[in-house]
This record gives sequence, C-alpha cells and structure tokens, in this order.
Amino acid sequence: MARKILGYIELVWTCDSCKTKNPGAIKSCTSCGAPQPLNVRFEQVDPNTFNFIKDEALIRMARSGPDKHCPYCGTRNTADAKTCVQCGGDLSVGATSRPSGEVIEPYQPEGAASPERSAHAQAPKTGKAPVILILVLLAVCVFGLFLLISMLRTDKITATVSSTRWERAVIVEYYQLTRDSDWAANIPLDATIQDCSLKYHYDSDEPAENSEEVCGEPYTVDTGTGVGQVVQDCYYKVYEEYCSYEAMRWTYGETLRLSGTDLNAVWPAANLTSTERIGQATETYTIWFSAGSKQYDLQTTDYALYQQAVPGSEWSLQVNKLGAVTAATPRD
Ligand SMILES: [Zn+2]
Ligand SMILES: [Zn+2]
Repeated sequence: MARKILGYIELVWTCDSCKTKNPGAIKSCTSCGAPQPLNVRFEQVDPNTFNFIKDEALIRMARSGPDKHCPYCGTRNTADAKTCVQCGGDLSVGATSRPSGEVIEPYQPEGAASPERSAHAQAPKTGKAPVILILVLLAVCVFGLFLLISMLRTDKITATVSSTRWERAVIVEYYQLTRDSDWAANIPLDATIQDCSLKYHYDSDEPAENSEEVCGEPYTVDTGTGVGQVVQDCYYKVYEEYCSYEAMRWTYGETLRLSGTDLNAVWPAANLTSTERIGQATETYTIWFSAGSKQYDLQTTDYALYQQAVPGSEWSLQVNKLGAVTAATPRD
C-alpha cells in the first residue's frame, strides 16, 4: 500500500489548565500561557473538509520532523531548534520528541463522547480452549495409535495359493494440436497465439504499464508539529494480456488393458502411428491364499514374485491384525 500525501492542514490542541482550544502551531496557550503539555493530542478542526495550508514555511516546518519539548521548562520547540525559545535551555540533551504518525480523529465538540480507539481498545482474547474439541482430538489420536499398532503387529502363517490374476494397462498418447490459455509472459515459444485481452492480474504498490489506481478515503496523520498531514492509501490494479494459444502437445489418448489368471502376463499391443506413443504403463498382480477356513489376498506390482505363485504352492505370510498381508514368500 503506497501512501500518497495530499497536503497539510492546521490542527488544534486543548490546554490542560484552562481547556482553551489553541491552533496546533501555537506553542503555549493563547489564554493562560501554559506550555503545550508533553502528551498533547492534536485534533482535526473540521471533520468534513481539509483546508489545505498554502504557507510554504509552515509546510516546511511540518516536514522537518516532530517537535521536541524543552527538558527544563517543557516548552515545545521545532525539530531543528538548538536552544529553547522560552528559557534558552540546551535542547541537544534530554529533549523529548513528540510521537508522530498517529492517525488523528476529527475534533469532537465539548460534551460529545470521544470515540474509543478501536485498534487499541480490544483486549487480547484469552478464552477457554473448547474442552469437547480436545476430547475429540484425544479420541482420534487413541484410535489412530490403535490402528497403527494393528497394522504393525503381524502373525506369521502358512497358506496355500488358491488363485491368481494379473492386469496390465498402457496409456496411448496422441501428438495433436491443443488449445490452452495463459498470461502472455507464460506462453510457450512454440505456441501460436490466438487472441489476447487485458485481464486483471494482481495488485501492486507501483504503477505498471496497464494499471488502475485505487485509493482509500483521505485521513490525517500527526506530524508531531501541530500541522497534520492528509494522506491517502493507494494501490494499483495491474492488468495484463491474457491469451489463448494453440500448440502441438502429447495428450492423453486411450487406455489399453489386458488381464488373465495365468502366471505369464503380457503387455497390451498397440499399433502406433507416427503421432502416437505409449505413455504411462501400470501392472497389478493379485494372489489369493487360503489357510484353513481363512482367505487372504496380496496385491503387488512385483512380477517376479507373482510368477512364483503356482496354484497349490505353500507360502509364508505376514498378516497384520487387520487381516492384511504385509509380506509373502514362497516356501521351498
Ligand atoms: Zn490555557
Ligand atoms: Zn525551555
């Protein structure tokens, strides 16, 4: 968010001793002469309009930095003052600079309640953690642990191969003209651009080739000098060319499958043309075992293991508490 300075306006401050409202640049009360207090709060005179200052000297002063208070008499002096205008005291040591940069609230007439500063008014939330949520989380953890233990703990059993099944699949890909769209900067070099149009892409603090400035409501910031700085927070909506394009690409075609129940699996045969190729290939082998009255099955991609699953052969299985086979080896 970039902050834009629109101009400077006069502020007022209230005398602690006699409650007189004084112009911001006046350093001691016009009514009783009391110095402006250290913790003075400047206010905007008119909440609805900004009467921008034309006086160059006053603007220069506002830009020079926050005023500082004399460590001896408390009088406010400008940032560049070496000695106090009131008592002549040395300001190089111990002078307190006014805070600056605070957002100024519009002036509230006498009797009207001043609005709470919402940014600082909210106390940090320290609510009780919801007990039910913790109990549910605990239950989920216990269940997860139980599941993990069940999966890790295995029994070794002897079983016989009852049947087998293999399945192999290949994806045939086609080299063909495909349509896609992207930001102009991301379009591949081999592509043919179809048509482009400006489209909103992102927000930026800096203006760009095609951008639209978006600004918030103006507000006043304390410069620490009794003069307020009217600012506006702005950003840019950046638009960029978004294009549709065409390019030759390998694309997903069809899946060829073959399956069988014997131990010699084969790959599906594809009669490929010059614009076709084999993409991803997958293989899955299932071996069913029986041990007494119980049935187990093992799914694997290990073809060498599958080839040993002669029906009727004896195998050693590791079976976990959920009944899943975690390891299988043929017994010689
Ligand atoms: Zn006063
Ligand atoms: Zn002084």
